[in-house]
Amino acid sequence: MAAGLDNAGQFITLKAVPRPREELARHGVDPCGPVAGVQVCLATPITSDDYVAGQRWRDATVRGCPWHRQGGCGFSRHGTYPRVRPPGALIACWYCPLERRTVSALPDCLASHYSGTLVDLEAMVLAVERARSLPAAVDALRTDIELPGALRYLRRLCQAVHDALGIVRGLQPARFAGVPLTLQGFAAALPGCLSGLVALRALASQYLSLLPTPLGFDPARQNAAGLSPAFQHRMGPDPPLAILDAPA
Ligand SMILES: [Zn+2]
Repeated sequence: MAAGLDNAGQFITLKAVPRPREELARHGVDPCGPVAGVQVCLATPITSDDYVAGQRWRDATVRGCPWHRQGGCGFSRHGTYPRVRPPGALIACWYCPLERRTVSALPDCLASHYSGTLVDLEAMVLAVERARSLPAAVDALRTDIELPGALRYLRRLCQAVHDALGIVRGLQPARFAGVPLTLQGFAAALPGCLSGLVALRALASQYLSLLPTPLGFDPARQNAAGLSPAFQHRMGPDPPLAILDAPA
């Protein structure tokens, strides 16, 4: 069973649908770090299980300050903060004393500003897409909370994910033109990927500051912090801003 708070602060409890390796999400908005902070993608294909078991936040490295690429600002490691889910997961943080903001390195497996993993949330969205109706999806997911709260949560989640898919399709038309704006459609266009959302987090890493959560990093917050999409680069000539070093 999983539980959490939805966007309206309503307590949500969901029973897990059996799936390999990953638990069902603890649903709702995750604290996801300091208020004044921004997220960057920690480029890694590892699963959340491996991230937690290996305490891989210890191996995270951010290649310099996002605001002062020339250095000299005192940008340095600033501890960690815990995720609600998956249990035991910590997120590595850095701090720029000149910008007075923190940077947190979110591994590709974890959802941004939602509790849980992208795999967790993908299972939710796929359940909705495959159900004959949203209430039917809630019923299939064996939601313990009152129907209105579950409907609200799933509706918002699906809208955010489908909005992100539309942006990705527009940004990468050569790859996704004609693909239906559903996770099922994108999964079909990404054969061999265990998770469509995790694959898209990597494929769209240049644009994460433009994409809504849980796939992207909350455009309003990133823009307010003065982070341009260029700082999210993983592919192309620029190396990823945050990487995992080999375990010590
Ligand atoms: Zn700085």
